[in-house]
Amino acid sequence: DPRLKAISEAIRVIPNFPKPGIMFQDITTLLLDHNAFKHTIDIFVDRYRDMDISVVAGVEARGFMFGPSIALAIGAKFVPLRKPRKLPGEVISESYVLEYGTDSLEMHVGAVRPGDRALIIDDLVATGGTLFAAINLLERSGAEVTECACVIGLPIVKERFRSNGKRLYFLVEPR
Ligand code: 5GP
Repeated sequence: DPRLKAISEAIRVIPNFPKPGIMFQDITTLLLDHNAFKHTIDIFVDRYRDMDISVVAGVEARGFMFGPSIALAIGAKFVPLRKPRKLPGEVISESYVLEYGTDSLEMHVGAVRPGDRALIIDDLVATGGTLFAAINLLERSGAEVTECACVIGLPIVKERFRSNGKRLYFLVEPR
């Protein structure tokens, strides 16, 4: 797909952010490039429009930049998965392990119902820890997670998903 080259080239790499040794994949430059941004949304919409998905769940913060456009186009609701203490209503929470310490994601109780078919979206998958926490939140609410989708990912992470019976889809590899 020739669109993937344009998408990859629109992602900016910032060395040593947020700390030395990290090659940060910056998707804000993808959002600045109308063609590349539209290609990104179009590819996701083409893939998911006939999968009977009822909910798109976006991971804070960069999942919020792609998820709502996809949800609107495929006729699904959008549910934000947020960092702790941001959501005003009653929440369920799922912790996950980071390189140093832990973090968690929260979702409003009642946003997702048993029988919902979910797509989870984030900008980048590294270890998969964030997405597995997101999967647990949705499954605890009775949803079936059809797939996790990211703009950027590593092929080896797909194995981790497969061995856990989950599906991961991404468009490009890190630059
Ligand atoms: P994981 O939980 O898979 O190890 O890390 C994925 C999470 O870290 C995602 O929410 C993603 O937004 C963030 N992340 C880690 N590294 C990068 C990066 O280089 N660029 C961007 N845009 N996000 C990153």
